[in-house]
Amino acid sequence: MNNAIATRNLYRFEEIYFLDHAVGKQRTLREIKSAAKRVWQKHRGKMPKIYFGLGTKYNGQYLSYQQGDEIHLAEGQRDYLTLTHELVHAMGYDYHDKKFVDVYFDLLENVFHMHRGELELTAGLYGVDR
Ligand SMILES: [Zn+2]
Repeated sequence: MNNAIATRNLYRFEEIYFLDHAVGKQRTLREIKSAAKRVWQKHRGKMPKIYFGLGTKYNGQYLSYQQGDEIHLAEGQRDYLTLTHELVHAMGYDYHDKKFVDVYFDLLENVFHMHRGELELTAGLYGVDR
């Protein structure tokens, strides 16, 4: 799948599907850092430092990002979902392709107890790369 399309579809899925889920709820920096340890648990290497920052501008909106060993979570995106997304990038998955989504969903299922079948089904409806 074309990377721009994969990105657009994944963002749309995240924005809409997770609105009513606990992983989409805004958290304190303390809660985010504690959850990050659980997400990173099985991954070797140093966990990135996490900041509540401005974010980076994308399509006129400030978005969270990962760069090197830093993750910056923008306002309105200080939730476990965005945190997990950025941590997957930090684990070495640069593009929003099938490999990225596999790792992402494994973490959402194992760390945050989300229902895998429902994730897969809904992701399919949004055209997320599967
Ligand atoms: Zn991303």
